[in-house]
Amino acid sequence: MPKHAIILHWFRRDLRLTDNTALNAAAKDGAQVVPVYVLSDWKKAHQWTGSIRQQFLCGCLDSLARNLGKLGSRLILRTGRADLEIEKLILETKATAVYFNRDYDPYGRDMEKKVQAVCARYGVVCQSYKDRVLHEPDEVLTGSGGPYRVYTPYSRNWLALDKTAPTGKPTTLGAVRLIPSDPLPTLEHWELPTTLAALPAGGERAARERMKGFIEYRTLMSYAQKRNTPAGITTSRLGQDLRFGLISIRELYARCIAAAGGALSQGGQGDSPSISNRLSIETYIKELAWREFYQAILWYYPSVFDEEFTPKFRGLPWSGSDEDFQSWSQGKTGFPIVDAGMRELLSTGFMHNRVRMIVSMFLTKDLHCHWKLGESFFMQHLVDGENASNNGGWQWSAGTGADAAPYFRIQNPWTQTKNYDPEGHYIRQWVPELKNVPAERFLAAPKDGRALAPGYLLPIVDHGRERQRTLAIFAKHVGSSADF
Ligand SMILES: Cc1cc2nc3c(=O)[nH]c(=O)nc-3n(C[C@H](O)[C@H](O)[C@H](O)COP(=O)(O)OP(=O)(O)OC[C@H]3O[C@@H](n4cnc5c(N)ncnc54)[C@H](O)[C@@H]3O)c2cc1C
Repeated sequence: MPKHAIILHWFRRDLRLTDNTALNAAAKDGAQVVPVYVLSDWKKAHQWTGSIRQQFLCGCLDSLARNLGKLGSRLILRTGRADLEIEKLILETKATAVYFNRDYDPYGRDMEKKVQAVCARYGVVCQSYKDRVLHEPDEVLTGSGGPYRVYTPYSRNWLALDKTAPTGKPTTLGAVRLIPSDPLPTLEHWELPTTLAALPAGGERAARERMKGFIEYRTLMSYAQKRNTPAGITTSRLGQDLRFGLISIRELYARCIAAAGGALSQGGQGDSPSISNRLSIETYIKELAWREFYQAILWYYPSVFDEEFTPKFRGLPWSGSDEDFQSWSQGKTGFPIVDAGMRELLSTGFMHNRVRMIVSMFLTKDLHCHWKLGESFFMQHLVDGENASNNGGWQWSAGTGADAAPYFRIQNPWTQTKNYDPEGHYIRQWVPELKNVPAERFLAAPKDGRALAPGYLLPIVDHGRERQRTLAIFAKHVGSSADF
């Protein structure tokens, strides 16, 4: 006997049917589940998103609506503030419960509180679930019960905890009566311009194909050796799928463990995968822990959106010019690896992690632009843009964040090219002006004052000089900071 006649399932960053914790619970507890997604109502421009990710979201909602249709259900779309729209739907449907999966960023948490308040006002049950992480922030704490500020001990603790196994998907959600729904959105909904970026396909099925492909075609098995190579497909490319919850983190983890022969810590024996394959799988799983580390940082220190995580770096003078920021954002700095990264981002909504580190350090340490400028630009262009990881990545590169790169360790874009794109494959793919230039010319600034190719700029700054400037600025600031 179901507990409720009608339950609203509020879809958020969980746009899938498979192994969706709150949705499965709603299917079990309700005779009928009304699936709801609330679209935002901002127009034209947003500091934290742009056409690329909204276009991807449109594809995800379209796919979700079709998948729900196959179950005999229907996605109800509304626009505006989630709590107000859910309130209207409680009144329209006479639902006696609202179920959803928890979000860990300050905006998501704030909205959850508002939805809980609405439910309380109407005497409606409000149930929230852990779904988007393997371990919620309060499950991974130091011996004294506080949050970790450093990744390595966090990850050791995170890795040792038992992980929940994935489950299946609901077989029925009941039919949804004639409740009005907004149409599936296009970019016009937000009055955003069309994007020409070549984006991955949205939706659960495409994401599941990517996940299976990553594991079955063995990119996973070479992850430890190749993950720092930006040319070709060397990483999972699942960032957007985890961001929108198109795949379940429990299923991804379980598939990785199965590929490792059932456990990470045993040596390779018999038919089990080789030690090098296990190392790759373990390395990959540690990246999933970085994702949850940054969500925990945001949970415990939401002020990282406004200020540097490390107090001694607050108030640093960022003197970068608007002109330099524009050059960077358009991929026109005269540093081939930086320009390749920025152009990959603009063309595809993706940038390889190694190159994200290079371009973000370049913006903050060579051009002296505030990390918040880059943080916002990335959020507007990344298809996997996710504010906890993005803030963490930017503060890492700026040297100001949790477990950040020390400020005096400044990556040299020329040396980084030598280490990670020595033959120039990545650079030539994204900077066509350079396609006939020999790779060794990408490894140092041109000494003869001549551009690398017609139409390609000379470097806009001298890395060595800017490095010295940054060291001096940071040292002076730290020396004068009362909060050391
Ligand atoms: C400046 C900067 C900004 C970044 N912004 C984002 C962002 O907005 N969204 C985002 O998901 N990641 C971000 N990252 C982390 C990382 O670059 C991407 O997660 C990764 O490149 C996505 O590609 P992938 O799925 O092929 O990664 P893989 O290497 O295959 O990793 C698998 C998954 O692990 C997680 N992951 C991997 N590395 C990190 C990391 N360093 N921090 C947090 N999670 C990680 C991601 O969910 C990723 O999809 C940023 C890194 C930097 C340096």
